[in-house]
Amino acid sequence: MAVRLDTPVQFLKGVGPRRAESFAKVGVLTVEDLLYHTPHRYLDATSITPAARATVGSDVTLVGRIVSKAVMPTRTRLRIFRAILRDASGVIECVWPGQAFLDRVIEPGQLVLVTGPVRHYHGRQIAPREYVILEEAAETNAADDPQGVVLPVYPATEGLSHRIIRRVIADNLDAMVAVVDDVLPPAIRQAAGVLPLRDAFLRLHRPPAGDADGGWEGGRRRLAFDELFDLQLVVARARHLAKHARRGAKFENRRALTTALKDALPFTLTTGQKRAVREITADMTSVTRMHRLLMGDVGVGKTVVGLFAMMLAVENDFQAVLMAPTELLAEQHGRTLTGLLAPLGIVPDLLLGRFAAGEKDAVRARIASGASRVIVGTHALIQETTAFHRLGLVVIDEQHRFGVEQRAALIEKGDAPDVLLLSATPIPRTLALTLYGDLDITTLTDRPMGRPPVRTAVRSSRQRAKLYQFLRDRCEAGAQAYIVYPIIDESELLDLKAATRMAEELAKSLAPATVGLVHGRMKADDREGVMRAFRDGAVQVLVATTVIEVGIDVPNASVMVIEHPERFGLAQLHQLRGRVGRGAEESHCILLTDAVQAAARLRQFAQTTDGFTIAEMDLAERGMGELAGVRQSGGLVLAYTDFSKDDDLIRIARSEARRVLDRDPGLTSPDLVPVRKRIERRYERGVELFRVG
Ligand code: ADP
Ligand code: MG
Repeated sequence: MAVRLDTPVQFLKGVGPRRAESFAKVGVLTVEDLLYHTPHRYLDATSITPAARATVGSDVTLVGRIVSKAVMPTRTRLRIFRAILRDASGVIECVWPGQAFLDRVIEPGQLVLVTGPVRHYHGRQIAPREYVILEEAAETNAADDPQGVVLPVYPATEGLSHRIIRRVIADNLDAMVAVVDDVLPPAIRQAAGVLPLRDAFLRLHRPPAGDADGGWEGGRRRLAFDELFDLQLVVARARHLAKHARRGAKFENRRALTTALKDALPFTLTTGQKRAVREITADMTSVTRMHRLLMGDVGVGKTVVGLFAMMLAVENDFQAVLMAPTELLAEQHGRTLTGLLAPLGIVPDLLLGRFAAGEKDAVRARIASGASRVIVGTHALIQETTAFHRLGLVVIDEQHRFGVEQRAALIEKGDAPDVLLLSATPIPRTLALTLYGDLDITTLTDRPMGRPPVRTAVRSSRQRAKLYQFLRDRCEAGAQAYIVYPIIDESELLDLKAATRMAEELAKSLAPATVGLVHGRMKADDREGVMRAFRDGAVQVLVATTVIEVGIDVPNASVMVIEHPERFGLAQLHQLRGRVGRGAEESHCILLTDAVQAAARLRQFAQTTDGFTIAEMDLAERGMGELAGVRQSGGLVLAYTDFSKDDDLIRIARSEARRVLDRDPGLTSPDLVPVRKRIERRYERGVELFRVG
């Protein structure tokens, strides 16, 4: 039968109903899905060494058939799995020390690819770093022996090996590619310098041998451009609608309260803060709504920037609200704002979930009547019973801690208020442009004066006794400390026990300092209780799993110890480190590790204090890694984009998307309708976004 893109895979050669079920498990239902089910890696068998020419001391890749195998005992109880591999040139021995289980995996007759060093031990042998079974014995077909080929390896699942997937795709690829429809307008494709879609699929699934870029890379870039282009169309459209849909508050720069605030501040603003205030003022006084993200490391002073925006709203007779993700943070902001606004004669109102009903009612009445001009609170703000009199500005702290709907719920309390989002998770610029394409972005990088950066050191557990002495000394001098204990899975009782035992041990070792423990399995109330005790100084050393509240400001905490730092991504370590260094006191961060392989990157981290630099390092190190939470963007998973390589594609996708929408905002012209259809399929919001022409 002739295939179409929506043909179920069941009808492809070599599939059938049972395999189709397995394909469904990896998300492949149709021919189109199968085309997009691209290899997660490639084995370059183009540089295969014949067995006869594998010389001792070299590192080789070999392909051959297993002729025999055995598990060999040794005197040291270490068992060695051994197999003999034969290719056209001869035989060679492969050994896997300590991997006797391979006896259940590797069988005579299989075609296997191995990569590893060749050494001499009673003759030549390879100790493979890696092996791949290319064909099972039963699948043997000598004509298929892949000499001089780049082998795609597919994400597999139970009952569906990468070999089967490779075979199915190889057998059907030409028919499938023939029905591919490239909806990207050629001019845009050329501007991006990417391949036609059919060529891209061919490169990905049948990579040409001996290409400098591996051949498949060009294919990946094409698919990456498509998803980036669609994403940019969506965010640019959303941005346009948000800015122009309704005209809300109109602010004038009256320089009444803002000037008073500047005069009353106990410090002068940093250059970055001044620039941020200027940008925000320009947004708020312009005809369109502000939708801005202020991004910067903890401690750079984002709150005070937000406060200037709030004063601009208030001097224009609007209300301004600041929402924080936890009660503790909201309280902290409440105190800060109360102090800073006292000279201006403004008293902020605080609305917290834990307030008694009567108290909440009273605050809500003040908010509804307009008596409150500056409001600080938590989720309690978005409850139905909270109504504003005239809300002109919404500031959301630690914005990523709130869901899209929660942010929207607060924003909808006003008549198209201006919006300022604060984030302490610096991410590289290109990534920000991709994920937050619908926002304007301000970054703050310079720290306020008089704050020495945190000194970071890498230590091994042999120095633990010395470290405890240091902690006792610091505590005696009145300082406080965090000890972070990584827990991979908070549901693991075993891990939790380890943290609990650790806390008990520390209580003994660090006496008379008081030790508290917080972990993810505690009730929120209990956790906040311990955090509060720490903030108030009743607890001196806080042992924590990774749940230390983001943005918590305990200036007196000047030491942070991180156990097993090698288990954290660099960006995550940086987040943790940001909990100290908030007072005038010099602060220390000690990474306690015995993992030698990790030492180099940890030392590099120790020497870097800028969050944006670390975000770049993290990105380079782990691809999306720690930033994985952001990979899922606007309802679409960016599956093909490589943020460490695709800067150019991101920029082009952004500019082309804007150009297209300037010309045709509803994507209604014939060449763009197929693009719109694709967006409507990919995005939940797609239909609604482009409904209006
Ligand atoms: P962020 O929210 O960016 O982590 P905060 O707004 O909590 O940082 O500010 C951290 C601390 O620095 C606060 O105590 C704040 O009053 C103080 N601060 C802010 N700006 C300055 C400045 N320009 N000079 C001195 N201290 C500042
Ligand atoms: Mg903050």
